[in-house]
Amino acid sequence: MRPVNSAASDLVSIEELDQSILDLAARINIATYELIVLVREFDERAGFLKWGFENCAEWLAWRCDFSLATAREKVRAARALKTLPLVTRAFAVGELSWSKVRELTRVANERNEDALVDFALRHTSSHVADRCRELRMGDVASVEIAERAFDRRALRVHRDADRGVMRITIDLPLEAGELVDKALDKARDDECLEIPDLVDTSWSKRQADAFVTMIKDYLAGGTQDQKNPDNYLVNIHVDQSALAGGDGRSSLPIESVKRLCCDGPALVVTEDQGEPLSIGRKTRVVPKAVERAVRARDKNCCAFPGCRNTRFLECHHVEHWANGGETSLDNLLLLCTRHHTLVHEGGFRIDKNFNDEWYFVRPDGVAVPDIGYRVLDMIDAELDGAYVNPPRGGLLSALEKVSQEPPPPDYFH
Ligand SMILES: [Zn+2]
Ligand SMILES: [Zn+2]
Repeated sequence: MRPVNSAASDLVSIEELDQSILDLAARINIATYELIVLVREFDERAGFLKWGFENCAEWLAWRCDFSLATAREKVRAARALKTLPLVTRAFAVGELSWSKVRELTRVANERNEDALVDFALRHTSSHVADRCRELRMGDVASVEIAERAFDRRALRVHRDADRGVMRITIDLPLEAGELVDKALDKARDDECLEIPDLVDTSWSKRQADAFVTMIKDYLAGGTQDQKNPDNYLVNIHVDQSALAGGDGRSSLPIESVKRLCCDGPALVVTEDQGEPLSIGRKTRVVPKAVERAVRARDKNCCAFPGCRNTRFLECHHVEHWANGGETSLDNLLLLCTRHHTLVHEGGFRIDKNFNDEWYFVRPDGVAVPDIGYRVLDMIDAELDGAYVNPPRGGLLSALEKVSQEPPPPDYFH
């Protein structure tokens, strides 16, 4: 390989320049491998303590002038590579780039390493990143991603009077965003049919117009076909194995997929190694007669204690259909979108009591009583030792208050 500098680059052919860049990139990848091996040894021997750092990533960021995020990635990958011999081998000889290794080390394990390395050697970095993201989403741990996305949902309005513009930014979980995108598609197409001249208008301007049309429709009481459930269909690809709790790929966090396909608001394309399977809507869609029975039993209201929501209700499969749960009255509960999300992605659970009735349990193991937090319930739970970590200061202070003062007499009625 000949050295390339700005003076010489005019003289070399494009092919030579191309080859030089390729060679250098390969050397950088191999050097990155060497760096990672050294970092791992430094980490294992806690060398960072000598410099007064608490962890290897902070030391690495300081010592080598990396951003903290880059340093963390290097340390994380270094640790993960220890149990991934095939990725390590391909990385060491420059067959796998750092970009691919960074992705692979997030999801590879002893079961899938062979297939993943094979895939990575035959596809581009961005394909590998897609595949690894889908595998991450298929893992139960992706519930954290769903929680964070749900937590970060926001709509902000900024009035820019000088420019005569209002800027609206919206952050939504992917599946909700897809729904907005679908609505925009529909509004845009409808508008194009009515005003053919619009076809020449730019895409972003038509999107903006479609958004306003949607809002006008909503304010006017909605269009005629707003009740068509197919309007809410969002396409999701997921491996059957991931739905059943094993390894597999998914285009959204797996718990969100389970929620979306509880009551059929999403068209879930289940796959087995990339081959579409025919199961899906047929097994999980709640027949009208069953839905009527569920609505009658739950009084057309969300079944979560204290929730009075009667709109956008969904039938939740207490035992998910992917795990063999039936689409029957006994296995279905009416939940609003918010509580449906809490049950799937928020760590809430549904259990049965000795009367064979469903009840909700918080992520910390505390049952949610039907009539709210009575002080008596809390004291009983505390005595039973079931109530280990009171999550709110409010509950604790209520308990303290009770221990100091005699309780009001009507607690004992
Ligand atoms: Zn559900
Ligand atoms: Zn609710």
